Amino acid sequence: RKLGYAIVGLGGYGLGVIIPQFKNCQHSKLVALVSGDPAKAKRVAAEYGVPERNIYDYKNYDAIKDNPDIDIVYVCLPVSMHAEYTIRAAKAGKHVLCEKPMAVSSAECQQMIDACKQAGKKLMIGYRCHFEANNLEARRIARSGGIGKLRYFRSEHGFTAGNPNAWRLKKAMSGGGSMMDIGIYALNAARYMTAEEPISVYAKETTDRNDPRFREVEDMIEFQLEFPSGVIGSCMSMYSANQNHILLMGDKGRIDLEPGTRYDGNQLWVGQDRSKLITPPPGPGATQWAGQLDHLAQCIKQDKQPIVPGEEGLRDIRIIEAVYRSAREQKRIALV
Ligand code: NAD
Repeated sequence: RKLGYAIVGLGGYGLGVIIPQFKNCQHSKLVALVSGDPAKAKRVAAEYGVPERNIYDYKNYDAIKDNPDIDIVYVCLPVSMHAEYTIRAAKAGKHVLCEKPMAVSSAECQQMIDACKQAGKKLMIGYRCHFEANNLEARRIARSGGIGKLRYFRSEHGFTAGNPNAWRLKKAMSGGGSMMDIGIYALNAARYMTAEEPISVYAKETTDRNDPRFREVEDMIEFQLEFPSGVIGSCMSMYSANQNHILLMGDKGRIDLEPGTRYDGNQLWVGQDRSKLITPPPGPGATQWAGQLDHLAQCIKQDKQPIVPGEEGLRDIRIIEAVYRSAREQKRIALV
């Protein structure tokens, strides 16, 4: 049987990206919607064949516990709401897929992990690149010694932030600026590409506080990660330009992904010649999202831990907290 997902938050990502992906899934289906906008929810339900009885709002959300159609809740809300809606889902006896960044603080991440553990439910974070074919192939090449001994990792991630009133630019809702939203891709890639955990971080922030977009959150942060093997990771996160690149340098060659973590059009090559693009073998799903949605469904069926569990989200948030602290105190922060 396909497992049933309830999508919480019908915004740019939940409605625009995730909902249309169920048609590519083999083990997952869309069965319910949670939205504060009844007219929108009704329209979306009609379009995707969701019965009206399976439409919830943020008040009656806890009643999902009585709905056996729903196996998994997918939280696609602003970051400050992730913890509450994950914990309520766990208490309702549902498994959870929660978007990145996991929460506004590591303390909240821990509460989410604890709530799911206590309920005996799985918790996975929406790190879609772990299901993206180019990223998987780059990682395979790096880990199999294809560029020799890895020495250096670099990643820049950014986009141009727009409306100053958007929740992403409000600290209480986002937990932070570009680092939380887009820099997290560079950080997570540094960890999954090297297969190492950083032992220290050193960060420098620069933000034009006169820009109305950046009254509350940071624009640019550059951060350096030190890995146990001696690999240096050099990462940049920004809200004032578009950039999306991952580079791995070994003593026998280099791997580039540019763009590296986009929805589509990612490009991978090894060596200096960008014209020699590598076509990766297919990923685990028809698309990165189908791979992600079906992975959690299969983990539930087989009682396995997802490859990107809550602990993975917590690790990133802990490191991001250290990045912010390093930038603030202008010193290297050791990670424990
Ligand atoms: P969005 O603003 O487009 O959508 C947010 C949804 O939450 C909207 O439907 C909005 O109505 C609803 N909402 C409920 N209460 C709200 C409140 N108090 N304030 C604002 N909105 C409220 O945002 P989005 O881009 O869809 O992002 C949602 C989540 O998805 C975030 O965690 C984001 O980081 C994540 N995301 C992930 C990816 C990815 O590639 N994995 C891409 C985009 C967004």
